Amino acid sequence: MTPIDLRSDTVTKPSAEMRRAMMDAEVGDDVYGEDPTVNRLESLAADMLGTGAALFCTSGTQSNLLALMAHCERGDEYIVGQYAHTYRYEGGGAAVLGSIQPQPLDFEEDGTLDLEKVSGAIKPDDPHYARTRLLCLENTHRGKVLPLSYLKEAKAFADDKGLLMHLDGARLFNAAVKQGVDVRDITRNFDTISCCLSKGLGAPVGSVLCGPEARINKARRWRKLLGGGMRQAGILAAAGIYALTHHIQRLKEDHENAMALAKGLASIDGIEINPQSVQTNILFADIKADMNRLCRFLKERGIIIDNAGHLRMVTHLDISAEDVEYTIQSFRRFFTSDLSVTG
Ligand SMILES: *Cc1c(COP(=O)(O)O)cnc(C)c1O
Repeated sequence: MTPIDLRSDTVTKPSAEMRRAMMDAEVGDDVYGEDPTVNRLESLAADMLGTGAALFCTSGTQSNLLALMAHCERGDEYIVGQYAHTYRYEGGGAAVLGSIQPQPLDFEEDGTLDLEKVSGAIKPDDPHYARTRLLCLENTHRGKVLPLSYLKEAKAFADDKGLLMHLDGARLFNAAVKQGVDVRDITRNFDTISCCLSKGLGAPVGSVLCGPEARINKARRWRKLLGGGMRQAGILAAAGIYALTHHIQRLKEDHENAMALAKGLASIDGIEINPQSVQTNILFADIKADMNRLCRFLKERGIIIDNAGHLRMVTHLDISAEDVEYTIQSFRRFFTSDLSVTG
């Protein structure tokens, strides 16, 4: 049986239909701008997100870095969440490769950055300081969807302060589907948006960076410099087109599965989880048992979870409602066995 892999929505495998689209893709040299499938993906993404242009990138890390480097010069600063991917989980790329200083701030409980705290972190125009240029948000953040009213406020705030806005929208479409809105109701508040094709959307590789043409052209130069100029990349872009045309509305199923999983786990003694906190496809729980034993027990039953301090599970394209039922049963079995007793 294929394992039930709940570590991340990055683990999805391309479906037979997606592989067929990849195999049939018309290709050319994209560094010359001659790959028709990459060009089609880029205009599709720009249309969907309502930006003038888009750029096919190798990963979300690359796409975010390109945005930061397209907005900020050496000695500029971006304000970002302490646990934001663009600060914490991208190897310090903005500082290492862009000479851009991060100014991290704690996230609020709902995944927003308090605009008063942001305001307090903006540096005065004085040679002692880096130049604050950019505010970077993340949606969804740990599975939480940023309210549209907040995005509007943040945009007005940024305009007032002369800041640019970048969205790390690795799971942008999860947010739009959850809110039942056109994705443009989210993206219109940002100068650039990075969106992963290889998370819940189920493509094997790639992200798109969307924004106005001049900004995207700047990012395209940086992408080449960073080794991201790919040639017959239409084979990969075809998967992205397939994902954007077939895999968005079904994200709802992932959200329902995550909620069902949360509710099932909440009924088990030894697991602490508030199903109300689950908004999209990511759930967190506290476990009162030895994680090593739990992971081993589940692995023997074909279920893979991350062995971290707390439990984080992610639903996706390759997780069915039956998989969720089976997973809940397996957790229940563990927590009613001697194995769950610590010591
Ligand atoms: C996955 C992810 C990214 C990009 O990751 P890559 O693995 O480089 O594609 C960026 N931001 C968030 C919030 C993510 O979850």
